[in-house]
Amino acid sequence: MPVVVSMLNSYSGWAAASAGFMLSNNLLIITGALVGSSGAILSYIMCRGMNRSFANVIFGGIASAGGGGGSGESKGVEDCQVVQAAQVADLLRQAKKVAIVPGYGMAVARAQHGVSRLTQKLRDEDTEVYFGIHEVAGRLPGHMNVLLAEARVPYDIVLEMDEINSDLPETDVVLVIGANDIVNPAAQEVPDSPIAGMPVLEVWKAQTTIILKRSMATGYAGVDNPLFYRENSRMLFGDAKESISAVLAGLRA
Ligand code: NDP
Repeated sequence: MPVVVSMLNSYSGWAAASAGFMLSNNLLIITGALVGSSGAILSYIMCRGMNRSFANVIFGGIASAGGGGGSGESKGVEDCQVVQAAQVADLLRQAKKVAIVPGYGMAVARAQHGVSRLTQKLRDEDTEVYFGIHEVAGRLPGHMNVLLAEARVPYDIVLEMDEINSDLPETDVVLVIGANDIVNPAAQEVPDSPIAGMPVLEVWKAQTTIILKRSMATGYAGVDNPLFYRENSRMLFGDAKESISAVLAGLRA
């Protein structure tokens, strides 16, 4: 839907530019062209982030309407390693380098302020912290960047996916906060997966990956995530805001 909205926005700009030509109004031509081209660029960036063509986003959504809800239960919790907040706090205390990958769940839980406080606490303890932002994390372009800026997370530690993927193998702990599709290894490893070919954050390459979510439910794409069952993955179940508060309390104890 955001892709469709941004394309319609782009068309409105081109329509205004055309009207500018008919009325010989230079201001209308320039502003229309700016709106038109920015909408087109935004749509292109979102499609590239999902590794899908524009036509596939528009028509593929109708064909797979059942997969978009993002709450279908999948593989059992017994196949995962479940941890508690205190154990996560211990892991963070020992870590030298921590990456935080936020997704749609951080927005739902409104956990960004807690995440900011946790970041500050870790940095105060001389732990290196950085954020990895996927182009389509959340449900709107720039969704995560806006939330982190609102919570006053320093800009210089908020990095794009391409900037952090090479650093992940040297990272001690990755906190995946309410993200699912954007960290799904099936995109690289399962050729017939609906998200095959989508660029993803390779969080499984870190020493330990902790996934904060409420259940085993799938994300927006409706596909199971093999990340949850990896040897070095740990699941911290619960609302992201409450989990982050509990981890922070553990760190302060
Ligand atoms: P996902 O939708 O893949 O996953 C979100 C996860 O958050 C779920 O697994 C859910 O699990 C968890 N969650 C939800 N609420 C909470 C909560 N209160 N506390 C903790 N966890 C929670 O999100 P991603 O950001 O990883 O990926 C974005 C998806 O949206 C991609 O598939 C992308 O293509 C798509 N998309 C993005 C657009 C954009 O412009 N950004 C536009 C269109 C589509 P659980 O329910 O178990 O808690």
